[in-house]
Amino acid sequence: MTGQPGRTGRGGGQAGAGDLLALVRTGRATTRGALQQATGLSRATVGQRLDRLFRAGWLREGAGGPVDSPLGGRPSITLEFDDAHAVVLTADLDTRHARAAVLSLTGEILAEHAGPLAVEDGPDAVLGELGGWFAELLEKAGRGADEVCGTGLAVPGPVDSETGLVVQPPIMPGWDGYDIRSRLSRAFTQHTGAAPVPVLVDNDANLMAYGEQRTGYRDCSAFVLVKVSTGIGAGVVVGGEIFRGVDGGAGDIGHIRVGSEALCRCGSRGCLAAVASGGAVARRLAETGVPAASGSDVRDLLAAGHPGAAALAREAGRQVGDVLATVVTLLNPGVLMIAGDLAGTSFLTGVRELLYQRALPRSTARLDVVTSRLGDRAGLVGAGAMVVEHLYAPTRVEERLQALGV
Ligand SMILES: [Zn+2]
Repeated sequence: MTGQPGRTGRGGGQAGAGDLLALVRTGRATTRGALQQATGLSRATVGQRLDRLFRAGWLREGAGGPVDSPLGGRPSITLEFDDAHAVVLTADLDTRHARAAVLSLTGEILAEHAGPLAVEDGPDAVLGELGGWFAELLEKAGRGADEVCGTGLAVPGPVDSETGLVVQPPIMPGWDGYDIRSRLSRAFTQHTGAAPVPVLVDNDANLMAYGEQRTGYRDCSAFVLVKVSTGIGAGVVVGGEIFRGVDGGAGDIGHIRVGSEALCRCGSRGCLAAVASGGAVARRLAETGVPAASGSDVRDLLAAGHPGAAALAREAGRQVGDVLATVVTLLNPGVLMIAGDLAGTSFLTGVRELLYQRALPRSTARLDVVTSRLGDRAGLVGAGAMVVEHLYAPTRVEERLQALGV
């Protein structure tokens, strides 16, 4: 959007109700006067469009009281997105457990559940189970299934977001090409009796990056998150949008060859994930007699201060840091966030050791290397934001308002 009169709408046309909603939601224009100024529309036209948004229950007058009008004259009432009219359901699948939540439209978690759920049981069983979780969560949150406007799902594999299909996932047997959207939609309807709602699917690291960038690093125009759990994946947010590549493959750094002979779960040898993931650290611990089978076991050992786990986590951090030196040189991010089961002091120390040694000083001069702020909730928050941004995008608002009859 340019902010020039008459140029805010799509294709250079007049700004519609969806464009006004976007201006309010992003905080770029939150009074009638500011909306007039941003869109070049007359006061009457702005009023007509806002009325539709008020009737839909999507907009309300702010509690903050009047503020000075940019056009002069009497102070104006601020407008804000009314997040009470609907909720979003989200779930984040890890290899052996999952997390699900009911979220408000502004990303607040209203009810949450975590429990064992193995992706290797296959999509039909896993997504069917999630339908049951969703029904219970709505009850816990005291919200009706008819209030749900959409569902967002994070999965530990590459996703073509256009189709919602998982594409050749190394650690999700049976999910390749499976129609996740239809199955989850059916599970939601079966367990709640409500009409189907849109289902959006994306990679977990992408959604974690999106959730973290939007809630903690909104001004960061190039943001990278690396999730190191049972596998390794990265999410990249550029200019406030998830960067997915041409078919969802961007950020899948776990299967970059790092020149070892270790066998990876993807069937190849020498992948980064085969030597430096939570799964790989667990295997090496198990070889020395320490009971560990997954990234979450390593996480527990690290939390308990296990010295062997700490040493292996640091070594894994060095191997990941070596690959991240290339990532950072290519993308020049402002923030590199480490998340997942291994995200702790030992691993971070290892990442920093190799990253600063191998990357160009130019590309790390303004780089912050940090750990996750949202922790296990990052994927849920990112999935919720994905659904809201999809449903309230200017291009979709008009048809949704018409469907509501306003
Ligand atoms: Zn691999």
